[in-house]
Amino acid sequence: MSEMKQSPEKKETAEQAEASLSTNYVVRAIGVKKVYTMGAEKVHALRGVDFAVRRGEYISIMGPSGSGKSTLFNMIGGLDKPNEGQVYIDEVDIAALNPVELAWLRCHKVGYIFQTYNLITVATALDNVMLPMTFAGMQQADAQDKAIKILERVGLGERVLHKPLQMSGGQQQRVAIARALANSPSIILADEPTANLDKKTGLQIINLLKELNMTEGVSIITATHDHKMLDISDRIAWVRDGQIEKFQKRSELEIKEGEMHVQ
Ligand code: ADP
Ligand code: MG
Repeated sequence: MSEMKQSPEKKETAEQAEASLSTNYVVRAIGVKKVYTMGAEKVHALRGVDFAVRRGEYISIMGPSGSGKSTLFNMIGGLDKPNEGQVYIDEVDIAALNPVELAWLRCHKVGYIFQTYNLITVATALDNVMLPMTFAGMQQADAQDKAIKILERVGLGERVLHKPLQMSGGQQQRVAIARALANSPSIILADEPTANLDKKTGLQIINLLKELNMTEGVSIITATHDHKMLDISDRIAWVRDGQIEKFQKRSELEIKEGEMHVQ
């Protein structure tokens, strides 16, 4: 075979390519299974999922309610552990980490966004965004400067001293996005980030996530059943009954006026 007769230079190139391939994944899940035990009943939430996200990619996990999106989200975010299989975040096998190391990884590498924002309601937008930085050991003054910059970045420069209940849903989700960005993560994980928002506000949030993906190079993984997410995703993982049915690139989708046609 012609591949067998590679010159030394070509071989080196192949090795380099392989090396860059592994470092170019921010998340890898291999054969992940998750079973929840409820008394005598077992729920097979994930039945063996292989999932890899390239650095800088925007990927949506799409599927009906109960299909296992949040469970997968929790596994790849290191929030929960699989019964079987491995999860690598930035090529670190998270099962090999002790609780302190895992907390460090989550704090520095991953930003989380949830459907219900999960903000601290008694704290201002500024304090909410500063919290992960303080937790990471940053000086108060530096954390405050950085938090203000990020809040300006997400369009909330005028709202830094507002508390969550003094803001609209869309503004609260922007605070959550700012908080997710606090420690300059390589990955943002967003679980149904637009589910509690009206169509227009949801679209603004989607566009903001896309903008951050493009300008900051942060990889974005959303679990969603919002079809507005489709046309800005680089790739879609279709999940059904705890398994990935298929992956599709955006170019393989045809999206027409809110309707979706899968080719
Ligand atoms: P999705 O996010 O796609 O709606 P989930 O990942 O939340 O789906 O749930 C997948 C399945 O696992 C569902 O059948 C759900 O009822 C079950 N499940 C999720 N979390 C738990 C839990 N903590 N305990 C027991 N069953 C759970
Ligand atoms: Mg869910």
